[in-house]
Amino acid sequence: MTPNPISPTIPLDSDGIHHGFLRMPYSRDDSAWGSIMIPLTVIKNGDGPTALLTGANHGDEYEGPVALQELTVTLKPEDITGRVIIVPAFNYPAYRAALRTSPIDKGNMNRAFPGRPDGTPTEKIADYFQRVLLPMADIAVDFHSGGKTLDFVPFAAAHILEDKANEAACFAAMAAFNAPYSVQLLEIDNVGMYDTAVEDMGKVLVSTELGGGGSATAKSIAVAKKGLRNVLIHAGILKGEMQIDPTVRLDMPDGDCFVFSEDDGLYEPMVDLGEQVSQGDVVARVWPVDRTGIAPIEYRAKVTGLLISRHFPGLIKAGDCAAVIGLNVG
Ligand SMILES: [Zn+2]
Repeated sequence: MTPNPISPTIPLDSDGIHHGFLRMPYSRDDSAWGSIMIPLTVIKNGDGPTALLTGANHGDEYEGPVALQELTVTLKPEDITGRVIIVPAFNYPAYRAALRTSPIDKGNMNRAFPGRPDGTPTEKIADYFQRVLLPMADIAVDFHSGGKTLDFVPFAAAHILEDKANEAACFAAMAAFNAPYSVQLLEIDNVGMYDTAVEDMGKVLVSTELGGGGSATAKSIAVAKKGLRNVLIHAGILKGEMQIDPTVRLDMPDGDCFVFSEDDGLYEPMVDLGEQVSQGDVVARVWPVDRTGIAPIEYRAKVTGLLISRHFPGLIKAGDCAAVIGLNVG
């Protein structure tokens, strides 16, 4: 198969701490023999498990990049056994443009797997992770939040998998991450996802949704930092004791958890994040933007549970996700 054109500027398998880049050649108008330089830190101390840590899979989600930037300046080789590979901005072109998808090719990293070595920049990054970085990893943490268009209660997530042994390992890692909320979910449309690539390789994955709105808060960043540290301890890489606090367990078993708008208009949330809703409750209303004197369209919960996500901008379009409800477990 065609080799991937990306090359690391630092060794991936030498003891110590190395800061550098994944360099991807990208010839373009403003740089004929130019490259895209994706920041990378590798910290290694002897033999042990490898953790692959990624933020900004979507470029406008910020808890991961902040927590991972901090890890690159605080984690010392002598603190660990094994290896930590840190890529704070997985879809680096998207991150630099503060967009969900790449401005170069419109690539959505979480729909680009397994990627192509001869494809677009997004597909090349995906292929490099698929064939080079992921095979080195035992456990992966991939940080997400809602980006500019959604907001979430802070949760760690793990998928319902056919491989029950790997599912149990992923659930244990999610519990170790110990976000305020822990969500088990059945992915309905998992083709092309990084998550699926990790899980299909039999590796352990923790994913998150920690906030949203196109920024981050001190609280949501604290969740990311604590979760990272806990997962590294859980994986046997970092020494120390995990900090475990109460978590609310939720289930997203099917599409009934989602409420989609069928109208363009002015979005009125009727319930706030973290609040309990019952089946049939109005969770959002959509008002006309172009006239007065018209009643709003009501959107109702199809299930009873807790509001874990909502549309973020003040205006909504037909097809946008208006609200997501998680089912209480236990
Ligand atoms: Zn995301």
